[in-house]
Amino acid sequence: MADRNTLRTSAGAPWPNNQDSLSAGERGPLLLQDYQLIEKLAHQNRERIPERTVHAKGWGAHGKLVITEDISRYTKAKCLMKGAETPMLARFSTVAGEQGAADHERDVRGFALKFYTEDGNWDMVGNNTPVFFVRDPYKFPDFIHTQKRHPKTNMRSPTAMFDFWSLSPESLHQVTILMSDRGLPQSPMQMNGYGSHTFSLWNDAGERYWVKFHFKTEQGHAFYTNDEAEKIIGKTREGYQERLFNAIEDGQYPRWKFQIQVMPELDADKTDFNPFDLTKVWPHDQFPVIDVGYFQLNRNADNYFAEIENAAFSPSNVVPGISWSPDKMLQARVFSYADAHRYRLGTHYETIPVNRPRVEVHNYHKDGEMNVYGGVRTGNENAYYEPNSFAEEGAAVEDRSAQEPPLRISGNADRYDHRIYDDYTQVRALVMKVMDEPQRQRLYKNMGGAMAGIPAPIAERWFGHLKQVHPDYEAGVRAAWNEANATAAYMPNSHPVTDDTPQLTSGDAADGSAQAAE
Ligand code: NDP
Repeated sequence: MADRNTLRTSAGAPWPNNQDSLSAGERGPLLLQDYQLIEKLAHQNRERIPERTVHAKGWGAHGKLVITEDISRYTKAKCLMKGAETPMLARFSTVAGEQGAADHERDVRGFALKFYTEDGNWDMVGNNTPVFFVRDPYKFPDFIHTQKRHPKTNMRSPTAMFDFWSLSPESLHQVTILMSDRGLPQSPMQMNGYGSHTFSLWNDAGERYWVKFHFKTEQGHAFYTNDEAEKIIGKTREGYQERLFNAIEDGQYPRWKFQIQVMPELDADKTDFNPFDLTKVWPHDQFPVIDVGYFQLNRNADNYFAEIENAAFSPSNVVPGISWSPDKMLQARVFSYADAHRYRLGTHYETIPVNRPRVEVHNYHKDGEMNVYGGVRTGNENAYYEPNSFAEEGAAVEDRSAQEPPLRISGNADRYDHRIYDDYTQVRALVMKVMDEPQRQRLYKNMGGAMAGIPAPIAERWFGHLKQVHPDYEAGVRAAWNEANATAAYMPNSHPVTDDTPQLTSGDAADGSAQAAE
């Protein structure tokens, strides 16, 4: 038999028997020297790596980014030049559910893209929504705690969610989108992606432009109601995986239009909203979308774990011509995502094949667990520190042409109160202008239903915010909440009631008239 078919230990020795353990007698006990058995069991124990704290359940595929328009006036990025074609990987995900969670759950979807450019990897780690729940990273771990399980009941808690949201009105915009049709897309193909944050582009002349990235589905938007999704989940928990995987296997390659909104650097002081606030969009009439190209997914992973689970997307990955902005959430994610992968996959996670850049990497990082570079990474074995005298003999040297222009931002270092911003106007535009009446009615029903069983004082605090968006919004959700409280056979709440918990009485539930505790 050819070598490649011989079963071998990890150390390469032929494996004589993979059926019968080595025992002292026919009926046992086993011998410690049955190393193959020990190794097999030990490997099984180590098959799982930590799942992502958020975005644990995901679906992905390989594809290509194609640039069809000339945007060289804004950027020098080679992968954004007209005609450029760049291999890429996409991973979509839900935020809150664990790895085994059902796909068709109402949740924001992650929309993470990795472009293997000739200048290194550019990662766009966005969502299917143009905004986010919070705008200051201090709030991020607390927000996620409300989405995950209650520490005592080990169940999801709508009380925690609406308590946090009602105390954090910057979340109104995102919660509104979450409870709208777009909060439950039929498949990953039928939703948009947004970079969400403000990023920047910079050109050969060293000029910086603020930019928003948009990826618009060419398959069209399609959504499910909660009732429809419940039926699907009853049949399959893997609905997104099935649809994405099968579409690509069938040669129906999904495509997204790639567009940007652009703002000259110094215009950031002229807008009537903070353009670096992640809870806001840039209105289309002030900042029209510009076509750039498209991306298409056309190849499934050969191995899900190796290519999708091991994929490590981080907004820290930018390439010359593309950069960040002062957006505080983005600044925190630049640290936090790379750090999550160091914890989840190991220090050298970017040497895992799916994360490995197309270019050969030279740098002076040294040693460490699972360092499998194979040789000296600096280009010269004597150059294991920097500066050194071996540049002529191949040692890696810095490239100042990759230096981005200075950020022209000034101010006093301080802890600025982010509660000064208007959290209502853009939500009003979405609910009262963009949505039609049937969409509004579904929004009210979804939100009222999600609030079923939460304590009245928390609900009242939330209604107070909805009223500031528009009285119809408040009235519609209140009516849906009352109906849900009166009719829900099962209250999905799981917050243990303590002496400190605002109490829900049957009267409160029936007429929703309880006053906010504050
Ligand atoms: P526009 O009328 O020009 O834009 C409205 C946009 O809303 C559409 O282009 C579409 O974005 C998006 N949209 C349509 N239906 C829904 C829905 N059910 N849920 C969420 N988004 C939807 O107005 P403005 O640019 O002034 O924005 C008004 C509001 O629209 C904003 O406050 C924001 O809530 C929402 N919005 C705006 C976006 C932007 O970048 N300006 C992007 C997405 C939403 P798309 O073309 O991206 O599909």
